[in-house]
Amino acid sequence: MNERFLKRGLRLVIGMAPAIGIFSTAFIYSATCAAAADKAASDAKKEPWQLAQETEVWEPVPPVISSPANGIPSDAIALFDGKNLNQWQAVEGGGAAEWKVADGAFTVVPKKGDIRTKESFCDVQLHIEWKTPTDFIGEDGKPTESQGRSNSGVFFQERYEIQVLDNYNNKTYPNGQVASVYKQTIPLVNASRAPGEWQTYDIIFTAPKFDSAQKLTTPGYVTVLHNGVVAQNHVEIQGATEWIGKPVYKAHGCAPLRLQDHGNLVSFRNIWIRKL
Ligand code: MG
Repeated sequence: MNERFLKRGLRLVIGMAPAIGIFSTAFIYSATCAAAADKAASDAKKEPWQLAQETEVWEPVPPVISSPANGIPSDAIALFDGKNLNQWQAVEGGGAAEWKVADGAFTVVPKKGDIRTKESFCDVQLHIEWKTPTDFIGEDGKPTESQGRSNSGVFFQERYEIQVLDNYNNKTYPNGQVASVYKQTIPLVNASRAPGEWQTYDIIFTAPKFDSAQKLTTPGYVTVLHNGVVAQNHVEIQGATEWIGKPVYKAHGCAPLRLQDHGNLVSFRNIWIRKL
């Protein structure tokens, strides 16, 4: 008897389900319409400035920094003060960086090898100035060409190279030219200045992210301004820079900034970095 009663009850509830659903939807719709009507009525009584205030966001307040003309932002780390390479080390062996410091700049000393910062970085904004030599005559007495003319590079996290090259009247493969993500992304423009003139890179680098299983979860991205002009606009980095073969990601953490000794007398100065 009880079982029959329960089954009837169950059938009744199941039979009513569509009606309950329709009723609930109608009720929610009606309540939403009523709330919208109330808001419209309330807004109609407000002054425009009161309505404008409703979309103002006051928190969080960005930190105040100073960014003086011809100076560096107060929250930046100066990676070269014009006097010494104390914040750098040789990649090979980890000893002192032995590039030549003179006149507020430093210059690659061929065969001394790449140098890197002692500190590691993740997401950063970098400012770096560089100059290529006016004398680019090779050992054979002819002007060096293509990748052989005043080549260096800025490597983020020791892996991802933004090419440094004298590309002023010097043709090379575009995905390896100045301001390229080397062998990955051709720059939007060639904003090169003549050899002997200082040039600037302002670079925003977003580091790739990896999960606990060492799998890539988000690729790296980079934006490059060469002499103040956008050359790379938030482009995806495809993996570690390779001279031969395709780029591949291998998991890593924060890592140093590295400068390349490609055997050419490229100079650098006024280097600062901000952690983002
Ligand atoms: Mg290079």
